[in-house]
Amino acid sequence: MASYKIALIKGDGIGPEIIDEAVKVLDAVAACEGFELDYEEVLMGGIAYDVHGDPLPQETITVAMESDAVLFGAIGGEKWDTLPREKRPESGLLRFRKELGVFANLRPATVYDELINASSLKPEIIKGVDLMVVRELIGGIYFGEPKGRDENKGWNTMVYSRFEVNRIAHVAFKLAMQRDKRVCSVDKANVLDVSQLWREEVEEVAKEYPEVKLSHMYVDNAAMQLIRDPKQFDVMLTGNIFGDILSDEASMLSGSIGLLPSASIGSKVGVYEPIHGSAPDIAGQGIANPIATIASASMMLRYALKETRAADKIDMAITKALKEGYRTKDISMYDAKEVCSTSEMGSIIANYAAQCKH
Ligand code: NAD
Repeated sequence: MASYKIALIKGDGIGPEIIDEAVKVLDAVAACEGFELDYEEVLMGGIAYDVHGDPLPQETITVAMESDAVLFGAIGGEKWDTLPREKRPESGLLRFRKELGVFANLRPATVYDELINASSLKPEIIKGVDLMVVRELIGGIYFGEPKGRDENKGWNTMVYSRFEVNRIAHVAFKLAMQRDKRVCSVDKANVLDVSQLWREEVEEVAKEYPEVKLSHMYVDNAAMQLIRDPKQFDVMLTGNIFGDILSDEASMLSGSIGLLPSASIGSKVGVYEPIHGSAPDIAGQGIANPIATIASASMMLRYALKETRAADKIDMAITKALKEGYRTKDISMYDAKEVCSTSEMGSIIANYAAQCKH
């Protein structure tokens, strides 16, 4: 029987509640599909600071590196907001991504037909949207040197090397090959030298994927096109800061931040996590939507463990739960038959996933 080691990082706020539900669903599909998941829980974020005085203890990095994948909830909260920058939960997360070398952040934005009214856009604009933002995660302006500030100035540097562009572009083109074979690379090449190099290198990589249609778009236009006609996109390839902004914009096409998963991958172990934060305003109330985390667990099965059938079962179970009218509070205003708690939603999806015929 195949057995996989999973590092579990629950984190802060709603993190523990949503991870528990994802584990429930994972265990249900693992039992059906005949593989084993061996979880090891480690700490990161505010809770790690409280216990170890460090938001990213070495043990967490070590366990993650020795695992087949990391399933992560969310970190952060007001309690830790006044700490020095390097002690804050968010610094732990940035360091974690860097240590693991997860340079590619994959954020699918799909619109569930059942929640078509949850979006602020018209149904005819968003029905059938299925796009994937591929964002470079450990380079660009968030990490470039020099950076700093004095009394009157602040500065950051946007740097990309050919190597960095090359490896993220390959991720985008490979994904496009499994999808609709279209890549739109987003940059600001009319103004930025770094974007000109980005564009040149993406063109080079494209030669290795003759079946994929490559287009380029300036980031300001892309922000507008995402709202005007999101269906025109298949894979959007972009750098760190542009991807940060565009993927949040794309996430709102679906209506709730509680629905969308992500995968951060590199050459070593990958990190699978919802796109939302620790939602301290609703933590401990049993009302958080676990779907984003359950869908992240599905991405983990698909990309890290290659358990595609199990991943399909989870995706089908989420759709079925929504089709049957089950809603957590954040989406309860859209065609709800029954409003359920975090844990009820997890159990419903786990039951459906166990019944799903492939
Ligand atoms: P947030 O994503 O935590 O919450 C934004 C809003 O969405 C809140 O109203 C929240 O209740 C709601 N929400 C989020 N997830 C939900 C879910 N699953 N179900 C239902 N509603 C949900 O963003 P924020 O409020 O800006 O940040 C809160 C904390 O999270 C901060 O400390 C921030 O630094 C941290 N954060 C962490 C991550 C991460 O761990 N990857 C990402 C973003 C923010």
